[in-house]
Amino acid sequence: MQNKNLILWIEAFFAVLSIWVLFMVDSFPENSMFVLRLYVLLLIVITIVLVLAVRYYQSQHSAIDIDRICEMVRQVETPAFIWSDDLSTLYTNEAMDELLGIGDTDDPGDSAVLLSNFFHLIGVSPRQAAEQLGEDLYESAIENPETHARRTISWTTSLLKKSPHASLYFTIGFETTELEDAKYKLMKKAEDLTQSQRRYQLSMKLSGIGILLCESTKPVYYASDEAQQFLGIDTDHITFADFRKKLHPDDRFLFDEYLENIRNTKPNTLSSRPRFLQLRISAGADKHYIWYSYHYHENLLNQSGKPIIGGALIDITTEKNKDAMIEKLAFMDEITEIANRNKLMHDGEETYRLCQTMGTYCWVIVIDLDRFHIINDSYGYENGDKILKNVAHILCKYTASGGFAARVSADNFVLVLHDYTVAGDDEMPVRTLEHIRSDLSEMAEGDFASMNLTCSAGFARIPSDGHSFHEVLEHAEFALAMGRGELSYIMGYDANMHEEILHQGEMEKQLFYAIEQHHLQLYYQPKVDLKTKKIMGAEALIRWIKPDGTMISPNVFIPIAEKTGMISDISQFVLREAVAQTALWQGMGLSPIVMSINFASGDFYQANVCEVVQSVLVKNGLKPQYLELELTERLALGDINYTVQQMNALRDMGILLAMDDFGTGYSSLSYIQLLPLTLLKLDRSFIIEIETDKVAQEICSAVIKIAKSMDIETIAEGVEYEGQAQILKDMGCDYIQGYLYGKPMTARAFQKRLEINTYGRELTP
Ligand code: C2E
Ligand code: MG
Ligand code: MG
Repeated sequence: MQNKNLILWIEAFFAVLSIWVLFMVDSFPENSMFVLRLYVLLLIVITIVLVLAVRYYQSQHSAIDIDRICEMVRQVETPAFIWSDDLSTLYTNEAMDELLGIGDTDDPGDSAVLLSNFFHLIGVSPRQAAEQLGEDLYESAIENPETHARRTISWTTSLLKKSPHASLYFTIGFETTELEDAKYKLMKKAEDLTQSQRRYQLSMKLSGIGILLCESTKPVYYASDEAQQFLGIDTDHITFADFRKKLHPDDRFLFDEYLENIRNTKPNTLSSRPRFLQLRISAGADKHYIWYSYHYHENLLNQSGKPIIGGALIDITTEKNKDAMIEKLAFMDEITEIANRNKLMHDGEETYRLCQTMGTYCWVIVIDLDRFHIINDSYGYENGDKILKNVAHILCKYTASGGFAARVSADNFVLVLHDYTVAGDDEMPVRTLEHIRSDLSEMAEGDFASMNLTCSAGFARIPSDGHSFHEVLEHAEFALAMGRGELSYIMGYDANMHEEILHQGEMEKQLFYAIEQHHLQLYYQPKVDLKTKKIMGAEALIRWIKPDGTMISPNVFIPIAEKTGMISDISQFVLREAVAQTALWQGMGLSPIVMSINFASGDFYQANVCEVVQSVLVKNGLKPQYLELELTERLALGDINYTVQQMNALRDMGILLAMDDFGTGYSSLSYIQLLPLTLLKLDRSFIIEIETDKVAQEICSAVIKIAKSMDIETIAEGVEYEGQAQILKDMGCDYIQGYLYGKPMTARAFQKRLEINTYGRELTP
């Protein structure tokens, strides 16, 4: 930096010297001219040598403009310095001084110390720095001795001037503290992330939690390693459809509902509440299901703003097993080991809710075993339990494709069946019940060979037949009760039934009152022997006569009495009254007649029917051959074996047995062979047409012949015309009953007829 000044100084010195010589020329003596000349020559030579020396020096030192570079270095804001490799020169800028915490110095001694310290700090020797020129960066972390702030700087060195003695270098540092900090933080973050990922994976493994994630708009789950294990898959994706296939059929409904919910999930409808779903999942084809709880959240958003639904899949088999134990105690029927009423109500309400959400249907079928108490009495309670177990087993067969079965009381079961059809399979309950009845009939083998187990049912549909499961169930029970009244073994619920029942309810109340108040009265209709034209018997027919004199037909109130059970009171009254009346007339010396009374099928299944009849006969002193019980073909709907058994017992007592309304019902002539009948009553519908319709004639004629061949007498009902009576007589019919010989009449009126019958005239006034 001082080279340029040095030359100027030299040149100035010689210029002053030359001027001084010029001023001094006149003062030199003559003889000293030679010395002067010599002196001038010497001066010129010295000047030339000096100028040459300076020029040489300049050629060596002025290849670079050190001052300019120093100036530039000064202006550089990052730390920079110029140094010579003999450590004699050091120029540092302000930033560098600040970095080192020193003041500016020109002291070569200081420079040497500083430079070697400095190179020590940045981890390279000056020689190495001089060798790694250009792009090579070396980095150092430097601590400010005063502030102790650490700074990271990348250094690079460039050669300014090459010299064999002391080459000059320029070293500049770029501050990378922030970059390093960022790098450090990033690394730390990455480390933390790896760490937390490892921790997460470990915890997932240890806790056995699987993760399932999906975008509400895509029908695919992302499955974590554990979730893949649970599902028995080896990819991290599974479609909803494949996932659904792995679910227990009973849980698919729940899953469908969940899908419906997530499909409707919009960013603005997100719920922060975690939700729960309990599902049975099979990992393989062996159909071994494991219970999982899926806790899911729906408020996670991905970058595109679409809701992500994700959650944890946790194996809850152990908890479920415990629950199952508790549930078993609280919700299981002890005998059949299927659901009890509590469970039915609980699961039923859940099913109702699902059907409502999903817009699907379920059928609730209430099943009642016919005359189970008789089976229990006949086979013993232990066997009764066995039968109930078998029934439960049969019912469960029909729940396999979705639904459940429950035992709600002694012989009452409920089936809840999923109807997967879109339009609703209206035939499903009847079809299923047919199958069940057929399965029940197959139970009659081995110890139960003679058992004829049948059932009746009422059904209603979820959700259309009630506002809750409770109501639908009530309606199905209601339909069952209605069906029983109609003697139909299955009946579906119909909202109009309520009207009927209201009316019926009113009737029931009135009927109950009528029985209490003795408003029921027996009328008697004569039965006439076709050969003698004499009254040989009577049919006791009940009438309900209201206090205002209105007479209500038994066709109206008997079915209600049958449904409500009041029929047994009525039957008891009829039996007592008719037997007493017959005995009274016999006691009066009137020709003995056979008194027929109508027996409802319900009466007939009373276990003590024989004893009851016997005691009434004994009490009134009437011989059994004067009592005839009329049964209808509807009996054939019930337990035929039991019917035969009861009828045989009655017959053995000497009581007569008639089959009423023959030809209208469900039975065929084959029943005549099974039942110990004494009389067949040809239904009025044949008689009406007997004069005009050949088919009716042929049927009547055939029935009369068959009956005769089996020693069974025949009577024709509803004979109104002489012509009808004549045809029947020609056919060999034994008796007739009808308006031709008298409508049903009061006891008093009938007594007069009996007096004429006996004495040829009326005795009573
Ligand atoms: P059912 O046992 O077949 O009785 C015969 C019915 O036919 C009686 O009707 C009788 O009045 C009617 N009838 C008889 N002859 C003629 C005729 O020539 N022309 C017409 N049009 N009808 C005739 P009722 O008395 O109204 O009884 C109807 C049904 O009610 C009976 O049919 C029977 O099933 C039932 N019933 C009547 N009384 C009793 C009873 O005390 N207990 C039970 N369980 N049922 C009864
Ligand atoms: Mg009758
Ligand atoms: Mg009849």
